[in-house]
Amino acid sequence: MVKICCIGAGYVGGPTMAVIALKCPEIEVAVVDISVPRINAWNSDQLPIFEPGLDEVVKQCRGKNLFFSTDVEKHVSEADIVFVSVNTPTKTCGLGAGKAADLTYWESAARMIADVSKSSKIVVEKSTVPVKTAEAIEKILTHNSKGISFQILSNPEFLAEGTAIINLLNPDRVLIGGRETLKGKEAIQMLEDVYAHWVPKDRIICTNLWSAELSKLAANAFLAQRISSVNAMSALCEATGADITQVSYAVGKDARIGPKFLNASVGFGGSCFQKDILNLVYICECNGLPVVANYWKQVIKLNDYQKTRFVNQVVSSMFNTVADKKITVLGFAFKKDTGDTRESPAIDVCKGLLGDKAQLSIYDPQVSEDQIKRDLSMSKFDWDHPAHLQPPSPIAIEKVRVVRDAYEATKDAHALCILTEWEEFRTLDYKRIYENMQKPAFVFDGRNIVNVKRLRKIGFIVYSIGKPLDA
Ligand code: NAD
Repeated sequence: MVKICCIGAGYVGGPTMAVIALKCPEIEVAVVDISVPRINAWNSDQLPIFEPGLDEVVKQCRGKNLFFSTDVEKHVSEADIVFVSVNTPTKTCGLGAGKAADLTYWESAARMIADVSKSSKIVVEKSTVPVKTAEAIEKILTHNSKGISFQILSNPEFLAEGTAIINLLNPDRVLIGGRETLKGKEAIQMLEDVYAHWVPKDRIICTNLWSAELSKLAANAFLAQRISSVNAMSALCEATGADITQVSYAVGKDARIGPKFLNASVGFGGSCFQKDILNLVYICECNGLPVVANYWKQVIKLNDYQKTRFVNQVVSSMFNTVADKKITVLGFAFKKDTGDTRESPAIDVCKGLLGDKAQLSIYDPQVSEDQIKRDLSMSKFDWDHPAHLQPPSPIAIEKVRVVRDAYEATKDAHALCILTEWEEFRTLDYKRIYENMQKPAFVFDGRNIVNVKRLRKIGFIVYSIGKPLDA
């Protein structure tokens, strides 16, 4: 029986391994983590992450061929294939601070693998890592191994939070990078055999290690760039009377461009896009490519600009001040169908409004009050000036109320900001909401999900990203 172990039971490690266990009943899969609360949650009815379809998959396999454990060393030592899916955040200090990937967790995992292994293993990079990381990992493993061999594979994960299970069950592609030696090819074949249980052969792409590592950074950079491109156009639409929905539709009809990922919004978030582009910028700079680095940097600059533009629109529309005005924030997660708030645009927008002394009433169906207050209390890392970590923002946390119902959140509010595209926000009773709000009542739709005409008919003053103000 092949044994798989995955180090890191997070948003990637948990769902990815659950699907492998589901599709490969003869393989024993152990997901290990140093975080006791996280593993306890994986072993309970309250999984640590919200992801549609995940509960069912975990319940079907847990205790049969899927195990969650904090006994990292035992499971690693017994495994034939060790996936490493630990976090790779942006470095916050030292060389490359504010841009380079922090590989501390990866290095400590690699050293531990070398330390506890008594048999040869395949080590799989599941985390997103800088191109050439496998070379460093190989050095750590071979210099610390006790006569056994390791094969390193790069198998980056392309799932999107909110649709992780669908993506994993039916991936566009599975990418496996490895050495072009005999042993490297055997290792690629072994991992290919795992995925071949459910992924069609033509969707499994095998490349060299560096192509696989770089493809993941490239894919995230392209996706984020598309969002920044459409958001750049949304600003021009507002200035000229064009409508971004119509422009996106017309542009997306070009078969060379395609319709996906062309929605204008308050900006992208999530733990990956920004950090992976920063990482790409750093790699370009290290390789003497400042023009290329600067090109990718603009994708993040534009994203920051879009959030600032949104806050400025709210304040200027509301007679240039939001001081002591109650503003309802609908949605705090970085996208719908997840409880993840990492790098959520809502954090920056809320901080901007609090900076102008607004009172916030926040509702998100999946994000807890503790999480929201923690996010709003954290200082934002300034990647342009990494030497100067900003002090915790002097926001008045007591001006933030977190409520568990959209109608309660909107009572007596002057304005409503939609920051996450949760389906339930499309179908709210906006007439009822209007009646309970202060007048004039404003709606600022950062996700373009409301019917602008209908809301204007009710009486709202509506701003929707990239749409004419008077349409
Ligand atoms: P996460 O923070 O949710 O999970 C990482 C886990 O690793 C944590 O639970 C942490 O406790 C654990 N960990 C760290 N060091 C460890 C060690 N030495 N031993 C055991 N456990 C350890 O992160 P995530 O969102 O799952 O992302 C993991 C990687 O996958 C990152 O590189 C990320 O860029 C990449 N990725 C993420 C997504 C996504 O949508 N979240 C998608 C594709 C790729």
